[in-house]
Amino acid sequence: MARKSNSDDRDGRGRGRGPGGPGGRGGRGGRKKKVCRFCAAPRENIIDYKNVGLLKRYVDDDRSIRKARQTGTCRKHQAQVATAIKRAREVALLGYVPE
Ligand SMILES: [Zn+2]
Repeated sequence: MARKSNSDDRDGRGRGRGPGGPGGRGGRGGRKKKVCRFCAAPRENIIDYKNVGLLKRYVDDDRSIRKARQTGTCRKHQAQVATAIKRAREVALLGYVPE
């Protein structure tokens, strides 16, 4: 055969889809998609530094702010939560020490 062996079937190099989005890997599906609670019910989950009860759910036992991946919060709201937590700390609503 006079056919030239082309380097690969696909055109270009395999840069079809870049690993841009979150959760690029994980082929085997079946995982429940966590939905951001703030997106789901923004009126019930108001991100405010005075809303300590809510913020407490987003800090770890060692009082560090939990990662968005742990809480299932979207990036946008995660940033707001983080800001609120920091602010709450400043005004001592959210203690640095466990109760
Ligand atoms: Zn959200």
